[in-house]
Amino acid sequence: MKTLKSYICGRWHEAASGFVPLVDPSTEETLAQASSDGVDFAAVLDWARERGGPALREMTFAQRGQLLKDMSKVLRDNRDELLDLSRRNNGTTKPDGSFDVDGASGTLAYYASLAKNLGNRWFLVEGDGVQLSKSEGFWGQHVLVARRGVAVHINAFNFPAWGFAEKAACALLAGMPVITKPATATALVTERAIELIAAAGILPEGALQLIAGATGDLLDRLGPQDVLAFTGSAITAQTLRNRPRLQVANPRMNVEADSLNAAVLGPDVADGSPAHGLFLRDVVREITQKAGQKCTAVRRVLVPAHRLAAIQGALAAKLGAVVTGNPAQEGVTMGPLATAQQLRDAEQGVAQLAALETVRVIQGSGRRVDGAGSPAGKGFFFAPTLLQADDARSAGAVHEREVFGPVATLLPYDGSASDAAAIVDLGGGTLVTSVYSDDTVWVGDFLAHGGGATGRLYVGSEGSAAEAPGSGAALPQALHGGPGRAGGGEELGGVVGLKLYLQRVAVEGSKTLVDSVVGTES
Ligand code: NAP
Repeated sequence: MKTLKSYICGRWHEAASGFVPLVDPSTEETLAQASSDGVDFAAVLDWARERGGPALREMTFAQRGQLLKDMSKVLRDNRDELLDLSRRNNGTTKPDGSFDVDGASGTLAYYASLAKNLGNRWFLVEGDGVQLSKSEGFWGQHVLVARRGVAVHINAFNFPAWGFAEKAACALLAGMPVITKPATATALVTERAIELIAAAGILPEGALQLIAGATGDLLDRLGPQDVLAFTGSAITAQTLRNRPRLQVANPRMNVEADSLNAAVLGPDVADGSPAHGLFLRDVVREITQKAGQKCTAVRRVLVPAHRLAAIQGALAAKLGAVVTGNPAQEGVTMGPLATAQQLRDAEQGVAQLAALETVRVIQGSGRRVDGAGSPAGKGFFFAPTLLQADDARSAGAVHEREVFGPVATLLPYDGSASDAAAIVDLGGGTLVTSVYSDDTVWVGDFLAHGGGATGRLYVGSEGSAAEAPGSGAALPQALHGGPGRAGGGEELGGVVGLKLYLQRVAVEGSKTLVDSVVGTES
């Protein structure tokens, strides 16, 4: 059986004990095992701090951009192999695997092209300079300089390629070395991607290391110049936030956690209109893509009360046509959940929602099903499941429990933007909220009432119907992250994504000197 290795201190480390199995979720066959036992985390940090950091900080943004471009090419050149691993370890169909793998190479390529515009400099100038006294004798200018520590990236199981790449792109471009730790159960794609990148000799020594398995005492060794970027469940995030050593050392921390994203159908959207078609397409995609195992998946669907029956029928028909099964089988359109634990969680989650007096299951069973192309009783399959609540405000658990599978709940609202925003807000902060409307006044009203509760507002309308990629796509140009329950973090968003890894410095002095130092003299 394959044993995943950690890439540390310029070599591949294979553990001898403490293994966690990696399983094909369609067949339950064990594919590999992983463990980080025996990793010397102090040495891993030293390697990054003493080799990777200085080498990257020697380079300009444009030079680091070239590294990202080369990394992107390696992933693109090996796309088929990575898609195959994704199918086997994550149970993804080809389009779902591509969402992850091509998302990874695309994000690296985007940041490579952004780097060209940032140019041959070592720091970024932020905003305009400002006069701080009665004359230009005392002047200030904000600049952003690479932090001198290590970026530790902990990722969730659902995006083994994109999760690694979207974080690494920003840290490496900013000039920080990376130690990346994928979720162990689905680390096959990440391990192979890093093996390919390391073999290509693209990065300076110490710029990128991989931990296959647990983080040991790594987090307790972080210091004030380091960054910890975490993606995963809110509960794990809370554990990390409360870790006493982290609180004392105070590295910068970014959290991308779970989110009860909402899609809202505006009252103006007529049956058969482009916005209506987009709404149905998007909602079905956002429930079923990657079997609903996306932090940006739609969990709550708000519809004006008098339209509920019609929308319920249309969604149920589309969800009923989804073929759940082994992605290796022709005709399968949705794969299994990634692990036995995820299956158990999804079953318990639907049971919790359906236990509410005003909530019922209207499509799907909320329990494991057999999958097409897999032996009976094998595989972590879970058919698309739609629930409906009679009253949005008394549907407590619907706004509190993230069921991480192909599961969403229909909720009625009164048609006003303020009512929709108030209901969405019951979720405590989302990564993305999508609204479907051609009425700019209504959308503006929603933004005013509900904008503060989300990191991204995706507006589906006649104008965007032909090109909108779906609310679940976290594009590198736009912010990814949301307030409150979603973790309060900020990733991507072009230059915004670099700021986690850069220290803002207010440079003060005479205008002539400041301009000369930061290169803003005219
Ligand atoms: P998880 O159980 O919280 O695990 C996430 C990562 O944390 C894994 O790499 C895990 O490693 C690691 N981890 C767990 N406990 C740790 C500890 N005490 N110290 C250090 N690392 C620890 O989440 P998951 O099940 O993988 O992912 C699903 C969740 O992630 C969902 O809630 C989803 O909404 C969220 N998510 C959010 C985003 C976003 O961008 N906001 C994106 C994707 C997923 P092991 O695997 O080795 O345990």
